[in-house]
Amino acid sequence: MEKIGIYIHIPFCERKCRYCDFPSFAGVSRDDRKRYFRALLAEVRECAGVLRGERAADTVFVGGGTPTALDAGALEELIGTVLEEFSVREGAEITTEANPGTVDAAYLSRLFRAGFGRISFGVQSFSDEVLSALGRIHTSAQARDAVLAARAAGFENVNVDLMLGVPRQTLSVWERDLAEAVSLGPAHVSFYSLQLEEGTPLYEDYRNGLAELPAWDDNRAMYAAARDFLAENGYGRYEISNAAREGFRCRHNMKYWTMADYLGLGSSAHSFFGGRRFSNPREPDEYVRGGGAARALEASLRDPVCGPSPEGRFARASEDALKELMGDFIFTELRLTEGFAPSDFSGTFGRPFSDVFGRAADALAAEGLLFISEDRIKLTEKGIGMTNPVMERLLTCPDT
Ligand code: SF4
Repeated sequence: MEKIGIYIHIPFCERKCRYCDFPSFAGVSRDDRKRYFRALLAEVRECAGVLRGERAADTVFVGGGTPTALDAGALEELIGTVLEEFSVREGAEITTEANPGTVDAAYLSRLFRAGFGRISFGVQSFSDEVLSALGRIHTSAQARDAVLAARAAGFENVNVDLMLGVPRQTLSVWERDLAEAVSLGPAHVSFYSLQLEEGTPLYEDYRNGLAELPAWDDNRAMYAAARDFLAENGYGRYEISNAAREGFRCRHNMKYWTMADYLGLGSSAHSFFGGRRFSNPREPDEYVRGGGAARALEASLRDPVCGPSPEGRFARASEDALKELMGDFIFTELRLTEGFAPSDFSGTFGRPFSDVFGRAADALAAEGLLFISEDRIKLTEKGIGMTNPVMERLLTCPDT
């Protein structure tokens, strides 16, 4: 049976962080949360009914928002329903995101016993000053306790999310963050750069001169420090912002970066299935009123634009769809430090990479931004520092 990843969105948070524009909502009443949860379980059952016998899940990822804003009983019921309704492979990677301010040892033990084997903590920093500037609800001591409690509860596969380029952060503060994270022994570390999003309180502060962010050069120095320090400590960087111990790459996120099929359940969740993309309504109310993925899933299952074919996985796609899929391929696969093989591209689209992007790629290679060999195309370190402009140059100058 072919494989699929399942993403489940919990759109609630205790309080909005000052930088956050994710589809998450604070102050939602208990009744509205219950209505959402019932709709979510119904969507799980409906989509499992559509896929029954056709696909087996090898990853399940509960994200948000803050999944651990739910009580442990609700997360037990959610994962229990997923395991009961979907075909879930033996050894599947089952993850929940967690906010360190919402869990304790008993809660974490219940999640582990319910079937979660991986937990991803949004720590962001071990500096209380930085955490407060970001509007996080937890302290650094809570973050430390949560990671250690998760490991004591049985989680071998723990991720720590850190954020660089944030207010009040200097290179030495960041180096302490990295050292603290590694000292807790997680299997995986993510290190994303802060994206300043319009409309967030932090953006307003920045615009009004009330918040200062590290300069670009400092930001790059922090990135390089993370890359090097994590490598020295046994965490191999496999994606621009992710590093893991041997055997602990996030299998679910790898699906996003390799254009594998995944199904998104819950408000604002996105799916990629059979070469088609579809998504649920962003607002939980609208989603509850009937916005689940089952119908689009069924349509993609019955009429996929991809499938095994000697010409390539997406060879049946229309020219417009093909263009979009090629864009997705560049934006996802080039995030991997290993990049991709030219044969991956031709096996996917039925055309050689050099025929589609050759000229732009050669120009980028000449500038030291892209590495091109017979069996590998990937960003160079210089290219990683300019990821989006490099990808955009490739996509705006195709040869065909
Ligand atoms: S906990 Fe995460 S999703 Fe919730 S407000 Fe903070 S950054 Fe956003």
